[in-house]
Parts: sequence; C-alpha cells; structure tokens
Amino acid sequence: QNSDSRTLLKMYEETAKLYSHILLKTENGSKALKYLNNRDIDKNLIETFNLGYAPNNSDLLLQFFRDRDISEDILKKSGLFAENQQGQLFDRFRDRMMVPITDEAGNIVAFSGRILDKDASTAKYLNSPETEIFSKSKVLFNLSNAKKSIRDNQNVILFEGFMDVLSAYKSGVTNGVASMGTSLTDQQLYTLSRLTNQINICYDGDDPGVEATYRALTQLNDDRFTYGVISVPDKKDPDEYIRSEGSEKFRNLVKNGVQTPISFILNYFRRHYNLNNEHDQLEFLNQSLQEIVKLDSPVEVDMYVGRVADEMNVSKESINKELDALRRSNA
Ligand code: ATP
Ligand code: MN
Ligand code: MN
Ligand code: MN
Repeated sequence: QNSDSRTLLKMYEETAKLYSHILLKTENGSKALKYLNNRDIDKNLIETFNLGYAPNNSDLLLQFFRDRDISEDILKKSGLFAENQQGQLFDRFRDRMMVPITDEAGNIVAFSGRILDKDASTAKYLNSPETEIFSKSKVLFNLSNAKKSIRDNQNVILFEGFMDVLSAYKSGVTNGVASMGTSLTDQQLYTLSRLTNQINICYDGDDPGVEATYRALTQLNDDRFTYGVISVPDKKDPDEYIRSEGSEKFRNLVKNGVQTPISFILNYFRRHYNLNNEHDQLEFLNQSLQEIVKLDSPVEVDMYVGRVADEMNVSKESINKELDALRRSNA
C-alpha cells in the first residue's frame, strides 16, 4: 500500500465516523434516523452496518478535511468530492443515508448514498467513483461481515440490493452479499471460491429481478460452483418480503426454497409462452429440451423430462427421442 492509499483509507474511516455521528447524535440526522426507523432498521443494525447521514451541505466534509490539511490532490483523488465548472470541489454526497462499503478485510473503501424522499430528479443510489482503493469489480458488499457465515452455511446468497442484505442479516440470514450493480466478475468469483462452492441467487421477485436471475444463470458457468435460486414470492424484493411476512418465513424460504437452475429456467420459459397456443407449446418444448440436454445427471434428466412430458401431455418416450436427436446434433 502506498501512502496515498493509506491516507484515503483513513479519510473514508473518518468520513464514516462523521456521518454516523451526524445520524445518531445530531438534530441534523433526525430526518434520516426517522427514515431508517420507518424501514425497520434499528439501532443495532445501524451500528452493525455503520450507517450514517450526509447532511444537505455542500462543504461540510470539504471543510472537515481542509481543517486537517489534506492536500487538494488527495481531496480530488478521494472520490468524496465532485468538481464544479470552475474547478471547485464540493461534497459528493448530500442529504443521503450513507452505507459504507468495505473491502474483504473490513476497510471502508467507498460509500453508497440513498435519497430519503421519493424524488425522480436524482438517482436513488449514488455510489463512490473508482479510486485507488475502490474498484467496484472487486468489492462485494458485506463480504467482510458475511465471511464466517458463508463458510459455516457452505453457501453464499447473492442479493440485488444493499437493503436486502441488511434486512436478511437482521432476520438471521447473515451469509448475504451484493455486487455493486454489476454481474459477478472473475475476481469476485475467485474471492467467493475460497469460501464456498454454492452460490444462491436471491434477486428481487419483480420482472427485472427475474430477468436478471435468468441472465445470471446463463452467464455463470464457473465449474467451481453449483448454483441455486431463491425466488421471492409476490414480486417482492427480499427486504419487502421480510418486512411483510416476517423473519421466520424468510429463513424458511432460504432453507427450503432453493431451486435448481433448471427448475427456475423451466418456470421462466413457462411464463414466457402461452401454453394454450400450439406454436408456443412447441417453442416451450424446444427451449426446455435445449436446457435439459445440458444436465449431467441422468436422474435429473429423467425427472425434468417427466415434468415437461406431464405438462405438455406427451410421452416421456417421445421427449427422450428428441433429446437423443439433440445430443447427436450437438456432438
Ligand atoms: P430500496 O429498497 O432502498 O428502494 P432496492 O435495493 O430495492 O432499494 P432496487 O431498485 O431494487 O433498489 O435496485 C437494486 C440495487 O440496484 C440497489 O440496491 C442499488 O445498488 C442499485 N440501484 C438502484 N437504483 C439505482 C440508481 N438510480 N443508481 C445507482 N444504483 C442503483
Ligand atoms: Mn430491483
Ligand atoms: Mn429491490
Ligand atoms: Mn427494496
């Protein structure tokens, strides 16, 4: 680590302390505290995740570090400030609830800030830019907290949003992480591979979440892992589900509701086709066979052939013939 990196790490640490102090100990933070309370995020969770509040002030953090004689060069490199047309720096995060992002060792290397009010004119989440200490393709949110639990549970749960990780954690599901809005990179997969060989995807239950799950399953084919899918009912995201259905139901879903990729994919196709229409029926059958043919286990093949046969009202025998033909043409 060079001395710039050390300074940046120290700055992020101090910034998180300042934002946490403002949230918990000052009148300025009461609005954000109320927002968190409304989301059932209690004191304990706030402390575990070191949440804070960046007030609506464009030079609070700037003054803080100028008073500490941090050079302009470092201020610029820190990513904590944005620059206006005249080249003047101002606080990047204003009037946002602040979530510190840590590296694997637990050092704070970035922030994600969420607006408190519904406001279409600005992004709901604002993330730190890449810096000498933060590369979003390397970091997984909550990995430093979750590590032990990932090992103990022998699986990691991949969530879409930071709030899902928090809610899950509160409900007792502590092996969750989230990527920084990208699909898993080779770096992240490598990091995870040292902890576990099972990745369970638990994205939002809404349409974008289901699409993202399908995309993730088609992209993730790293042999070091087996994959599972935890589908959240009622188009909810995990946080919404936990808050409406309770922790115990979520823990049960995580424990007993892990689907195999093929089972998720067949469901996904089924929803996309109108199975009353003959053309769609054949398409569904075709697509399903393309996926079933990829399975290694004969028992699994047999099981899903049976399922598709039942559903389409055709014989297993004819489906197996189709599969043989597919295997020959793929060979
Ligand atoms: P919340 O519950 O606070 O509304 P969420 O996590 O449910 O947030 P989603 O809209 O489901 O939010 O988005 C999932 C994730 O995608 C977020 O946690 C965040 O990391 C990222 N994200 C969402 N909206 C934005 C945005 N406007 N800019 C940057 N990242 C975003
Ligand atoms: Mn979403
Ligand atoms: Mn969501
Ligand atoms: Mn949400």
